[in-house]
Amino acid sequence: MLCFFPPVCYTRIMNETDTNSCGECAVCCSALRVIELDKPAGITCQHCTGTGCGIYETRFEICRAFLCGWRLVPALGDAWRPDRSGVLILTQKVEELPQEHRAAGSGVNFVILGGEKAIRRPGFAEYVSTLVARNVAVYLSADSPKTLINKYLVKQVAAKDRDAVLQMLIHIYRKHIELREMDGMKPMPWVKLP
Ligand code: SF4
Ligand code: SF4
Repeated sequence: MLCFFPPVCYTRIMNETDTNSCGECAVCCSALRVIELDKPAGITCQHCTGTGCGIYETRFEICRAFLCGWRLVPALGDAWRPDRSGVLILTQKVEELPQEHRAAGSGVNFVILGGEKAIRRPGFAEYVSTLVARNVAVYLSADSPKTLINKYLVKQVAAKDRDAVLQMLIHIYRKHIELREMDGMKPMPWVKLP
């Protein structure tokens, strides 16, 4: 039986004190492309100390503006911080979603950086199931082109079959890794989980 999460909202929180705080996490400073720095995805920013930003007071506007999905949804809890979960959550703008998912609000891209362990973590399959059940557009990527995965999970979610959801998520993730390997990209995982 699937355990469904309480409602979550990815609407931009206006008051930053209402969000989770980064703490020692610096995952986005490695995982994301920063045009201002000519930094590709997967390369750690030259200003990153490993546990924060070395130029915090003067960091770029794009760095100031960015909040990952974990920061936007405090209900997710500490274990979902990207350096602990191996999952970087990126919100997807409504206007960029397929029409059939727009009524559910912004979409979610789960960027898997902690390998299969990140997918097998308690709560991940359940959270994805909750979003799919609500028709929220759910994408999965591994620093690779993202895939909209709702249609691959609808039956398993309707059947409340958590193991089948997990199996499909692993299958989709492995396909992304195969594509990365074919393209000669940096091996995963980037975030080492215990
Ligand atoms: S990935 Fe999220 S929690 Fe981690 S440093 Fe970036 S914004 Fe903060
Ligand atoms: S400038 Fe600072 S906040 Fe921006 S990517 Fe580099 S380390 Fe991260």
